[in-house]
Amino acid sequence: MKAVCWYGKHDVRVEEVPDPIILNQRDAIVKVTSTAICGSDLHLYDGYIPTMKKGDIVGHEFMGIVVQVGASVNETKIDDRVIVPFVIACGECYYCKNGMSAMCDNTNTNSWAAEALYGFSSAGYYGYSHLFGGYAGGQAQYVRVPFADFNCFKVPDQLTDEQVLFLTDIFPTGYAAIEEAGVKAGDVVAVWGCGPVGQFAIRSAFLKGADAVIAIDRIPERLQMASLSGASTINYQDSDVVEILKYMTGGRGPDVCVDAVGMEAHQSGLPGIYDYVKQQMRLSTDRAHALREAIQACRKGGTVSFPGVYAGFLDKVNFGAAFGKGLKFTMGQTNVHHYLRPLLEYIEQEKIDPSFVITHKMGLEDAPIGYAIFQKKQDNCIKIVLKP
Ligand code: NAD
Ligand code: ZN
Repeated sequence: MKAVCWYGKHDVRVEEVPDPIILNQRDAIVKVTSTAICGSDLHLYDGYIPTMKKGDIVGHEFMGIVVQVGASVNETKIDDRVIVPFVIACGECYYCKNGMSAMCDNTNTNSWAAEALYGFSSAGYYGYSHLFGGYAGGQAQYVRVPFADFNCFKVPDQLTDEQVLFLTDIFPTGYAAIEEAGVKAGDVVAVWGCGPVGQFAIRSAFLKGADAVIAIDRIPERLQMASLSGASTINYQDSDVVEILKYMTGGRGPDVCVDAVGMEAHQSGLPGIYDYVKQQMRLSTDRAHALREAIQACRKGGTVSFPGVYAGFLDKVNFGAAFGKGLKFTMGQTNVHHYLRPLLEYIEQEKIDPSFVITHKMGLEDAPIGYAIFQKKQDNCIKIVLKP
């Protein structure tokens, strides 16, 4: 089969690789009909996630048709049309049973490595380095799905791939960032980053009744998409974001601040160069500028929610400000399974059509071009769907 393989910084290739096979009787093999490139894939592409190996198949947002099941798979059937959450979960451990599938105790086959780094391991993820299990990813013609009965979700025939694909990651991620921050009617929510995750956070804030959403980025077409969703916008390159947010909220600051940027935040001037050089020299793992601003801008007693991915040790994060203002934090890889059914209902009830975020559709063989334009934010690219 054909698959998108990682070869190093800014080097992904579409190659002929062996088809996946059933390794465990609870596996299924899914023939991929649609797969997407995620902002998290850019952290691999930019070379910031350790333990990648040349030839690793990437991709964790995918859906398709079940073509083979192991002898112990009971509910998932051949020909089912399914979406597959990016976190691989067993469905039976303490975490899976309590709605925290991203923390599954049983799916990271290299848990020792994550334990050494973080104390405990999270779940395994498709196509996301050997630190998280070394699973082959979904930017491919076929994928092996472990614990198929828990990880394959049948989707209604009348909904298109484009409407349901993002249930595998970015829609639940944007939604969880809002829901877990406790956004309620009347709140003012600020969202740093108008990439796909930020776009879903903005729409989710309105779904939860937020009074106003203020979206922050510098890419015109991303700010425009945010504004079409009803958000006010700030171009961070033209302004002092914290001061403007105070001004826009009568001096109090937003109730909830969402960092949908993560470890590769951009920043102009000397402080930006300082962060960039430290990250390149591996003196610091993450560029935390958006997080710093979110902490600084948030109102006293408010919540900072960070769906944006952080990998390691953060420099110059104003933790004292967070403590001094009594902020609450919420973060982490998304417990996708927990959100699937309620968010599918939103789509069925036409409260949201997630396909709004798609700007590009390409064949799988064009993935290297897709990665390059998504990373450089060229060609008005916001979200790419690949069709294997
Ligand atoms: P993306 O790269 O398309 O979007 C990031 C956006 O942030 C860009 O538009 C960029 O211009 C903007 N940005 C950069 N620096 C900024 C700054 N200082 N202030 C404001 N905006 C700034 O990526 P995406 O797909 O939207 O993903 C966003 C983040 O969410 C990534 O870190 C990704 O890894 C993470 N993510 C997390 C989960 C999860 O489970 N928690 C799931 C999916 C993605
Ligand atoms: Zn993703």
